[in-house]
Amino acid sequence: MTTFLPFSKPTIDEATIASVAETLRSGWITSGPKVAEFEKQLSAYFGGRPVRTFNSGTCTMEIALRIAGIGAGDEVITTPISWVATANVILEVGAIPVFADIDPITRNIDLDKVEAAITPKTRAIIPVYLAGKPLDMDRLYAIAAKHKLRVIEDAAQAMGSTWQGKPIGSFGDFVSFSFQANKNITTSEGGCLVLNNEAEALLAEKYRLQGVMRSGWDGIEVDVLGGKYNMTDIAAAIGLGQFSKLNEITAHRRKLAQHYFATLGKDFEAQTGAQLPPAEFQNTNWHLFQIVLPERITRPEFMEKMKAHNIGIGFHYAPIHLFKLYRVLGFKEGMFSVAERVGKQIVSLPMFYAMNESDVERTCAAMVEVLTVSVALR
Ligand SMILES: *Cc1c(COP(=O)(O)O)cnc(C)c1O
Repeated sequence: MTTFLPFSKPTIDEATIASVAETLRSGWITSGPKVAEFEKQLSAYFGGRPVRTFNSGTCTMEIALRIAGIGAGDEVITTPISWVATANVILEVGAIPVFADIDPITRNIDLDKVEAAITPKTRAIIPVYLAGKPLDMDRLYAIAAKHKLRVIEDAAQAMGSTWQGKPIGSFGDFVSFSFQANKNITTSEGGCLVLNNEAEALLAEKYRLQGVMRSGWDGIEVDVLGGKYNMTDIAAAIGLGQFSKLNEITAHRRKLAQHYFATLGKDFEAQTGAQLPPAEFQNTNWHLFQIVLPERITRPEFMEKMKAHNIGIGFHYAPIHLFKLYRVLGFKEGMFSVAERVGKQIVSLPMFYAMNESDVERTCAAMVEVLTVSVALR
């Protein structure tokens, strides 16, 4: 019997575990020197842009919206195919979510549809880089400049991805990353926000900790309503260990993705009716390896049959506009047909740093069996 292959699993090396233990013994376990060091290293990676860490990659986006002054009456355009957090932050600041359908090939927001959705009330775009695949970043920022819109990049999945050789996060407007357990690098839970200048960074610090600003030994002032979103040194110790391996992690994931394509072969789509992701190895960090299933098998049936082969399958994502919270705002079926079709049949195959090529082969063999043999007669 083979062992169970999950769709994702974090790898924390022994040096990182030792660093976490050292932090726990140090007597300083909340935000402190490790957070400062992590922010310093991240900032260097992002070309010297200011970076602040947080306890999630959700509050980062909410805080970016607050820094941009976006709130009641403002429209923010985003994709229906993302983790629900992406749209929830728009509601959280009292703004109006506006969805634009996705591109069926990249599964990212379709920039033609973004342009069509812009109104005089539009203030910002929150693009998502699904599976770590960036958009056409030149076109995204040309649209934003033309219509004077802020961009809050939901780069939660895109740590290590690039655009024309530059890391995602090293250019642009606000860029938000998540370090949740399944992301390419993790802090268990956490996130960071790349900002444009020190004034924004200072505001981010205030929103992160009750709006408090300190000066001298006892000077304390509160002038904005902040929350409690700071990262701990325990989390930052994990993050520093993970970040030191970013290049290895990205290279290994690209190799695994390449092996998926090579193993499935060029006839896989024609033989099964499934749709592979775009074979792009320059920019994408391959956070996920996602396929769209043919109509003749349902996602639960596929997941169950793969489970019988001891293989875990992930699911990212259900269309956000069809959740009850969004339906009551007037969104309904038929509004974003590509997102609805893709959202119904998309699955994520196993993809993580500790996987090897034989795990890829095992997954492909099981998948071909499930898609061609067991459901061939329908
Ligand atoms: C993980 C993720 C988030 C949320 O990040 P958290 O750190 O879990 O808050 C938001 N958007 C996308 C696309 C994600 O993948």
